[in-house]
Amino acid sequence: MLPIERRQQLLTWLNKEGTLSITEISNRLQVSEMTVYRDIKPLIEDKKVIKTSGGICLTQETTISSSACTYCLKESNNRHPVQIITHELRVEHLCCPHCGLLRYKDIEKDVSQIICRDFLQDTTISAKMAYFLLDADFNLNCCQPQVLAFDSLKHADQFQKGFGGIVLRFEEAIIEIQKRMNGQSGCGCNKRE
Ligand SMILES: [Zn+2]
Ligand SMILES: [Zn+2]
Repeated sequence: MLPIERRQQLLTWLNKEGTLSITEISNRLQVSEMTVYRDIKPLIEDKKVIKTSGGICLTQETTISSSACTYCLKESNNRHPVQIITHELRVEHLCCPHCGLLRYKDIEKDVSQIICRDFLQDTTISAKMAYFLLDADFNLNCCQPQVLAFDSLKHADQFQKGFGGIVLRFEEAIIEIQKRMNGQSGCGCNKRE
């Protein structure tokens, strides 16, 4: 793993887990604690993370910007969020794959990683490798057209057999959603009254 990849991984973990100790990070990344300190130095200088007694955690600024969807601005309480990490290590949070894919298209050249969660197993996967199911008869209560992400084609196919819809790859899914949105920006969220 390159230093930049380790930093991205670190931000993803911190975002999910809050605080991490240096020892824990060094174990997980399988690098020395010295390397961990070197890796986090720019993050601390950039005020992305701060040192605490227990290790390091995200700064207030990084944490606050994480509660609302960057694309549709809805509070992101969906259990299938998407994260986009830019080359400058900014982490954006999107409420669901619908917003994730549209946002990706908007800032494509700045994106270093786009991460989503497998719909069935709840594991973290790279969106670029995922399979996306559109139009399934299964309501996530998030943005329309609804998009579900799957790690494996087998699962996507099985889910599609049960709930209908179409299975698409990353790029195809983006094109399809954009087409359905008819060039509108924003998203067809079912905004609660
Ligand atoms: Zn959204
Ligand atoms: Zn959404």
